[in-house]
Amino acid sequence: MDDRQALCDAYRYLAERGLNRGSTGNLSLRHDGGFWITPSGASAARLAPATLVSLDAAGEALSPGRPSSEWRIHRDIYAARAEVAAIVHTHSPHATALACLRRDLPAFHYMVAIAGGSDVRCAPYALFGTEALSAAALEALDDRKACLLANHGLIALGADLEEAVAIAEEIEALCGQFLAACETGEPVLLTRDEMAAVIARFESYGRAPAAED
Ligand code: 13P
Ligand code: ZN
Repeated sequence: MDDRQALCDAYRYLAERGLNRGSTGNLSLRHDGGFWITPSGASAARLAPATLVSLDAAGEALSPGRPSSEWRIHRDIYAARAEVAAIVHTHSPHATALACLRRDLPAFHYMVAIAGGSDVRCAPYALFGTEALSAAALEALDDRKACLLANHGLIALGADLEEAVAIAEEIEALCGQFLAACETGEPVLLTRDEMAAVIARFESYGRAPAAED
């Protein structure tokens, strides 16, 4: 499928699943000379391949249109993380609720390892659309495929759109589960060794069985 159509479909999917509403959130997809990004103020109903904005690796416009106000975050992640080809930003309800408490998502469930480590960090607050927010996000994303943005939302990264969307959906669900567990008690956290074992197992999860499986 055409890359730009896939980006529009993913944007619509996130809206339909309740991860974004109106023009909240934004998506991008790497291309040869930079990346495609959703326009600022995009709505799922009006988004179409021709409305996507193309930026080069430095963030300079390659096509007309006003890119998402968070283009710096997208540009800086692509520059720092060669393995990332798609970025999803949402204001999904539970991830945003946890981000408003300015709390990291700890290792309360093994699936937290989907983001690459034993927690999902919450980046300190900075105004949306700023270089300061990009710097804070990049630091919180160190060695991770997701982070929360204080008083704002969630960022998820993937080697492709499918992975970035799947991580965003899973982290949103996990934030909801964590908040629910906190309502009736204090969730028991997995140990560093337990999470290391999950991360090791994820290396082969979903692949052809190895001899010892
Ligand atoms: P844009 O519509 O400019 O992408 O902004 C939405 C948003 O989520 C800002 O953080
Ligand atoms: Zn946002």
